Amino acid sequence: MGVMLRLTDLRLPLDHPPEALAEAIAARLGAPPLAFHIARRGYDARARGRVVLTYTVDVEVADPAAHPGLRPTPDTSYRPVAAAPPGLRHRPIVIGTGPCGLFAALILAESGFRPLILDRGKAVRERTKDTWGLWRQGVLNPESNVQFGEGGAGTFSDGKLWSQVKDPLHHGRKVLTEFVQAGAPEEILFVSKPHIGTFRLVQMVESMRAKIEALGGEYRFGCRVDDIEIVDGAVQAVVLHTGERIAADHVVLAIGHSARDTFAMLHARGVEMVAKPFSIGVRIEHPQSLIDRARFGTAAGHPILGAADYRLVHHASNGRSVYSFCMCPGGTVVAAASEPGRLVTNGMSQYSRNERNANAGIVVGVEPERDYPGGPLAGIAFQRHWEEAAFAAGGGTWAAPAQRVEDFLAERPSTHLGEVLPSYRPGVTPTDLARCLPEFAVVAIREALRAFDKDIPGFALGDAVMTGVETRTSSPLRITRGDDGQSVNTRGLFPAGEGAGYAGGIMSAAIDGIRTAEALARVVTGLPAAP
Ligand code: FAD
Repeated sequence: MGVMLRLTDLRLPLDHPPEALAEAIAARLGAPPLAFHIARRGYDARARGRVVLTYTVDVEVADPAAHPGLRPTPDTSYRPVAAAPPGLRHRPIVIGTGPCGLFAALILAESGFRPLILDRGKAVRERTKDTWGLWRQGVLNPESNVQFGEGGAGTFSDGKLWSQVKDPLHHGRKVLTEFVQAGAPEEILFVSKPHIGTFRLVQMVESMRAKIEALGGEYRFGCRVDDIEIVDGAVQAVVLHTGERIAADHVVLAIGHSARDTFAMLHARGVEMVAKPFSIGVRIEHPQSLIDRARFGTAAGHPILGAADYRLVHHASNGRSVYSFCMCPGGTVVAAASEPGRLVTNGMSQYSRNERNANAGIVVGVEPERDYPGGPLAGIAFQRHWEEAAFAAGGGTWAAPAQRVEDFLAERPSTHLGEVLPSYRPGVTPTDLARCLPEFAVVAIREALRAFDKDIPGFALGDAVMTGVETRTSSPLRITRGDDGQSVNTRGLFPAGEGAGYAGGIMSAAIDGIRTAEALARVVTGLPAAP
């Protein structure tokens, strides 16, 4: 048995033969290793038309001292921080089964806590029918939709799994490993931009539920937490919409960014929270082939590369930052509403990413002090205002307001669509998107589209189509927690994930779920908070 070392930044041509990697490793080491496996494969497309694959490889060598420049392969295996003590008065409750609640529940279950898991929505198969009900028939179920129900907001998504959060304890590896065990493609363990797609996510969420139940966890769907009992600054119980009271000393609050009624209830109960910045804008669609050509040149269409993505930022002259958000290559724009009369867009794709259009949010940062002063819930009022404007501009039927880029730039309403057909269902209404966004956002997005066209020629294509509005980019508030993971003024309440303002995206929400379960385990067992 040798020792594992990590080799980084091996660069090979896109079409290299399989043996070229082994040769490159041997050349770097001065001799072939005993064994190797790929830790990460990415690509460098900065020189258009000459895409290079980049590898990080773990190599097994007999004599590590012969390679002083190489670091040992990090140990990424997961170890729970503490086991549940015997005789715990109440089992912990996890509210929400999105990525945050799911991973909090898994870690608690693996640590012997037998958590009770509550979600206002339905189990994922039934939820899928309700979600499609809005897309196909224009019927919204406010308790079972893209935002609410088993799997949370990311279930009907592109399933992008990369994140920029700091992760010194490799919790992201635990997330990926569990996802693979639950049915995700193995490649997510090593490709630099892993994604899963909607179809498999549904199966994975079910499979993880089975695992949590086998470990003693209990799920209850259709259970909306409508109240929380707090006595002397500590949680005593949660109360369901049915009036049922469930006693609890430890509650993980993983409710996502769309649980506006729950935010209001927590605020009324005095749980400490503050307004935070988020972003608002539109979703734009281009032919995927245009993005592929711009990003990959002659390598466009190569199976290793798949459908190209992009990430764009522009600092507009009015002081606002505009950036691309949740880009979905080869995907569709979806109706992401959860409240009647309030229209929201987002994007999703299947694993194959082979739909005709690329889509992404093009969003502008907004801040509490300047854009929605007035307390922790003011950002929600701001979101609702623009979602209502979008619903009205679309004609009040769940059709989304849409506009060709050429018309948007020329400051005139669209009266028809062009070559790029919008993928949003149940349909779109050509109109003026300036009706659905604050003026500063419209001005900043116009400037940004012209700037983005320099990065991606064709980005300001006249027939590219925009739908709106994109308001649920992240939580409009933060439920403040201390170093021990508990709410700063409510003991036993563990605000977590995207809704509490501690994550943005599937991976970061899942990692936060793990951290929160660990924080809870530390509090229960009297261990000091994590450093
Ligand atoms: P959520 O996933 O929002 O889960 C919250 C859960 O809490 C829900 O299941 C809800 O039903 C439940 N709940 C809320 N209130 C209550 C209550 N009072 N009582 C009981 N239950 C309650 N991120 C990515 O990283 N990659 C992507 O490709 C991606 N695509 C997306 C596409 C779409 C269409 C959407 C909507 C989001 C997408 N996201 C994506 C964002 C991602 O889904 C979220 O960041 C992530 O799901 C947040 O996880 P969470 O667990 O914190 O909250």
